Amino acid sequence: MSQVTLTINGQKVTVPAGSTVLDAARLLGLEIPTLCYDPMLSKPGACRMCIVEIPGMRNLPASCVTPVAEGMVVETHSEAVVEARKTIIELLLANHPNDCLTCERSGDCKLQQYAYEYGVREVGIQGEFHQYEIDESNPYILRDMNKCILCGKCVRVCAEIKGENVIDFAYRGFNTKIAPALDTKLAESACVYCNNCVSVCPVGALVDRRLAGKGRTWEVEQEPIICTFCEAGCNFNLLKKDGKVVGVAAAKAAPGRPMCLKGRLGLELIHNPNAAPAYLKKDGEFVEVPWAEALGLEGILAKLLEKGQKAE
Ligand code: SF4
Ligand code: SF4
Ligand code: SF4
Repeated sequence: MSQVTLTINGQKVTVPAGSTVLDAARLLGLEIPTLCYDPMLSKPGACRMCIVEIPGMRNLPASCVTPVAEGMVVETHSEAVVEARKTIIELLLANHPNDCLTCERSGDCKLQQYAYEYGVREVGIQGEFHQYEIDESNPYILRDMNKCILCGKCVRVCAEIKGENVIDFAYRGFNTKIAPALDTKLAESACVYCNNCVSVCPVGALVDRRLAGKGRTWEVEQEPIICTFCEAGCNFNLLKKDGKVVGVAAAKAAPGRPMCLKGRLGLELIHNPNAAPAYLKKDGEFVEVPWAEALGLEGILAKLLEKGQKAE
């Protein structure tokens, strides 16, 4: 494969042809902010946070979709770039709820992090606010579209990784929002509650309902683990607070990030099988079911029982 050498912030770097400027910068350990980018997903280059300055190019190009070229010179934090990023953050905050104090994602939110890093305290532009009802229709995911920044990562992960296509962009202009077909609640959609959308959401628009109120990011220790509920062996992290497991989260860096409801629910068995109810959707309604049924283990349990009886 042919190689390309370019200079980023005064440092030379050689990368395979076809790489993006963002790939090359990350190889050098340079941090470029992103909101809609995810290495596992297609790249719309939509949020513009990853813009850089490249002499000879008319505008500030999005580094996640700009291919490298031999001899290219890139500045990731020039004055023009920093000013443009500040404006993007201001525009996002212009109609964003001021809820960092109680938001579940506080401390783990990219919008909050970038506002801090770029010193965006005052929002010069004040926009109209959405008044969307929070979707609490199911036991697994809280959807607050008032906090959504329309990065589209949830749409892409649902379609490209999970293959479910449950959600998409709906309406236009200011009314654009992410919604299941016919803008129903999630409980009325074909969602399988894999929570992949929750794991890629950069802000507090999607929250794992079972983790809500259980602790701030910095209070929770993460322990990598491989799920043994089926042969797929998905990687995820056990979330522990004060030595007690309080939740599970998809391992961001691991291949095979998809994590099914079975792995997520298995957690409830750790402390007390009767502590929290398991739910399954039957005839369009969530109903409480035995854990064996929720985990799809009924067949296995029956077989084990049968084997045991034969052996006697
Ligand atoms: S989504 Fe982020 S910026 Fe918005 S309220 Fe929550 S923590 Fe704050
Ligand atoms: S939980 Fe899974 S299936 Fe449901 S919307 Fe999110 S990614 Fe799609
Ligand atoms: S819900 Fe989250 S992941 Fe989906 S578009 Fe909004 S901000 Fe992005």
